[in-house]
Amino acid sequence: MNILILGSGGREHSLAWAVLQNPKCDRLIVAPGNAGIAEIAECAALDILDGAAVTTFADEESVDFVIVGPEAPLAAGVADALAAAGIAVFGPSAAAARLEASKAFTKEICAAVDAPTAAYGRFDDLATARAYLARQPVPIVIKADGLAAGKGVTVAMERAEAEAALDDIFSGVHGRAEVVIEAFLTGEEASFFCLVDGEDVLPLGTAQDHKRVGDGDTGPNTGGMGAYSPAPVMTAEVEARALDRIVRPTMAEMVRRGTPMRGILFVGLMIDRGEPSLVEYNVRFGDPECQCLMMRLGGQVLDLLLACAEGRLTGARVNWADDHALCVVLAADGYPGDYAKGSRIGGLDALPRDSRNMVFHAGTARAGGEFVANGGRVLGVTARGDDLAEARDRAYAMVDAIDWPEGFCRRDIGWRAL
Ligand code: ATP
Repeated sequence: MNILILGSGGREHSLAWAVLQNPKCDRLIVAPGNAGIAEIAECAALDILDGAAVTTFADEESVDFVIVGPEAPLAAGVADALAAAGIAVFGPSAAAARLEASKAFTKEICAAVDAPTAAYGRFDDLATARAYLARQPVPIVIKADGLAAGKGVTVAMERAEAEAALDDIFSGVHGRAEVVIEAFLTGEEASFFCLVDGEDVLPLGTAQDHKRVGDGDTGPNTGGMGAYSPAPVMTAEVEARALDRIVRPTMAEMVRRGTPMRGILFVGLMIDRGEPSLVEYNVRFGDPECQCLMMRLGGQVLDLLLACAEGRLTGARVNWADDHALCVVLAADGYPGDYAKGSRIGGLDALPRDSRNMVFHAGTARAGGEFVANGGRVLGVTARGDDLAEARDRAYAMVDAIDWPEGFCRRDIGWRAL
């Protein structure tokens, strides 16, 4: 079959790498892709937020199946456009993508089924929001509603910081001003991935991310500096609780509302003494978590995504090896602040590329036959091992063989589990 993947990051490179291992894949196109993806698949320039353009392209190229990587095309209704044209697509409708696009919507769905999540208030004017905040204890969490690429959330330790975040949201920098004010949850965070087709849910693994830029979880937040899978905090009991109390009831509520979820549900959890609470839902794979999951799943991922998209999730199962994967993100100096593009990255061609060692590209381009940095997060150096320490050692051995003086990484990925 002919497959089209939408996106251009490490997530899409790892999806492409896994899909290509499945003999069902005859031809793979990634739009827009990046320099690393271009080594293994065709790349096509395409406005992936334009549902009509994506549908026309898929028609012209006889695409049988489209996998949507990032959230923006989903929120823009690209999956709806493809489905309306009769093209099989992995990714939810815009209505179901509200689980990610609107924090207030997810809170409402949780409230309707009594799923454990932080107590909250939702406001669309500054005065009422301030009055509510004044009655709450600190720490407290202030969230701009809507997609903000991870930049709309302030975990405020002090009241003044919370007030400043409110002022910021209502100053208009995040577009439409609406805020969710949430009680602060304590515990350990983990990401839990589930394939969902309406009420059918198939767990697809767990991971932990490293959001802060610096070793020891210091410095500003980023899109993610590394990850590992599985997450030891997600024991079988915690997973069962998260499914029974959070995932299944909320997915049933989506069906009841006539907007069933179809695709991958990224369940962001806070786990306190074995009790999971929902922090957030995303409706796409997390990046870099996806790189770890793809490394562990390999070619079967295409069968699983197809089963999900075609409503055949009942009876589908995941074949797990008893393995671990770890991803170290290499970023450009200065990230998540200002950074330069165009520096040369050497040493990549000499690295192994196999089922245990892969460098996934997140932001690279080709210049004069060489790879150059073309983004903030640039490479995802990902390895698999029989245990986490082995995966980590392999990943850092590759990191150390990469010649890129203008880049940096965290040296402590996996510390919580190791
Ligand atoms: P991203 O998708 O980048 O994780 P986001 O903008 O969708 O971010 P959230 O995931 O809701 O926002 O929040 C970002 C981070 O803030 C969480 O990963 C968590 O570390 C912290 N956080 C959010 N809500 C709470 C809470 N109620 N208590 C404690 N920490 C929280």
